[in-house]
Amino acid sequence: MRKADPAKQNTDIFDKLFDQCHVNAMLVLDQHGHILKINNAFEDAFGFTEKDLSGKHMRVLFTEQDQKAQRPEMELIVVKRQGFSTDHNYSMHKNGHPIWVSGESVWVPASKYGNCIIKVIQNIHAQKLQEKFLSEANEFSSIILENIGDAMLVVNEERMILKTNASLYEMFDLTPETLEGTYLPDLEKSQNISFEIAEKFENIPQDNTFKKEFQWSPPGSNTRMLQLNCKILNQQGNDRKLLILLRDVTEQREAEQQREDFINFVSHELRNPMANVALVLELLNEFMDKQQKEQTDELLRKANMNLKRLNQVISELHDSTRAATGNLRLEKTHFNLGDMIAEATDTVKLLYPHRAISCKDCPSTEIYADRFRLIQVLNNYLTNAMKYAASASDVIVEVVIQNGSLVISVSDQGPGIPPDQLPHLFNKYYRGQSTAKLDGLGLGLYVCKEIIAAHGGQVWATSQLRKGSTFFFSIPL
Ligand code: ADP
Repeated sequence: MRKADPAKQNTDIFDKLFDQCHVNAMLVLDQHGHILKINNAFEDAFGFTEKDLSGKHMRVLFTEQDQKAQRPEMELIVVKRQGFSTDHNYSMHKNGHPIWVSGESVWVPASKYGNCIIKVIQNIHAQKLQEKFLSEANEFSSIILENIGDAMLVVNEERMILKTNASLYEMFDLTPETLEGTYLPDLEKSQNISFEIAEKFENIPQDNTFKKEFQWSPPGSNTRMLQLNCKILNQQGNDRKLLILLRDVTEQREAEQQREDFINFVSHELRNPMANVALVLELLNEFMDKQQKEQTDELLRKANMNLKRLNQVISELHDSTRAATGNLRLEKTHFNLGDMIAEATDTVKLLYPHRAISCKDCPSTEIYADRFRLIQVLNNYLTNAMKYAASASDVIVEVVIQNGSLVISVSDQGPGIPPDQLPHLFNKYYRGQSTAKLDGLGLGLYVCKEIIAAHGGQVWATSQLRKGSTFFFSIPL
């Protein structure tokens, strides 16, 4: 019996493999990289027939960019030098579309094709697209996480912190990227915070409703209101994690409270004078029948005062909204300063006939400003002095010219204002603690500040407890 020739047997096996492979595309190249043969799988995957490629250099299968980078030549050098080479790159389909492939080339010396290279190619396009999609999705969620205002942490069942974002470090005033790998209870302890999350994941509500608000007193800083949201990730698997989202809702809650207080204020401020006017009208009716002149005069004065108050509340509301939207426009004219101050004091004197208001150094200089608005500011300062200072207190208006600015002040000898309240007096809705029971919206001084700012000037106040307060405004001349 004739003995089988092992070399021939190997060639037969290779040929069979080459022809019958369905998944792995294969090429035989000569030692210079010219295509000698391609298999059926290659034809199926890349659309070329053997006739299309036979004798052509394998560079035709590379993209233009790879050709420019001399990747085909480099591949040949490597395969000849080390006997094989691998690569991940695009291979061109006959229709011009690049397909992601993973290839392996093997150097085969002295074969039936002479010194040749056998190249096996796998189409990994779908896998590559998926990878690209995943990495884009990952990048997308990382960008979102980094940019959301909510502080975020992910912990495992042992409470080890696995993932964090920039807002978390900002909230806790910590150096970025120092928390991952540390434990949640340590963070809670150092920040004087307790998330009160159940010990076991099983005890955490399974739906998305684990949401609560709690107060947090950060070390060395004011109390904040935080909203906590939790969600178990990978609920069914054995690698469960907990996503914790923290939102600082302090400003939001304060704004809601302010809005509520404001509505209460406004309704109170409008209802009171209206009820007074209604009562006065009823009494007037009665007294007029009896023709009691003195009483009717007094009632008319009261009705007038209440209507003025109503008018003032409505104007303050209107002006504060105009100031907030930048619509507080000035109508400047030339006018006499002394006359303007006299008009403002006279109006207030009418309402408070028993109170003394004097003007110190009131010059009859002419100035250029919005007369109506300056009267409004002075009126506010004077009315506040009447309202908040004891009834015996004299009120003094003083005018000085300082560094090219006109400075007007209104002083009273009232109870004064505690030093910690002074910086807030001109804020919107601010009302002093001891004066909160008196009528007022806390908008008067805010509107004054805006009017004076529109003139390019400034407002401020000084005060001494039990001695009195002085409110100033300055406008450049
Ligand atoms: P309102 O008078 O409506 O409260 P304002 O903005 O005019 O609003 O005043 C804000 C706060 O400033 C007042 O609530 C009061 O506490 C304080 N204030 C203003 N003027 C005086 C004053 N002359 N003496 C003491 N406190 C004053």
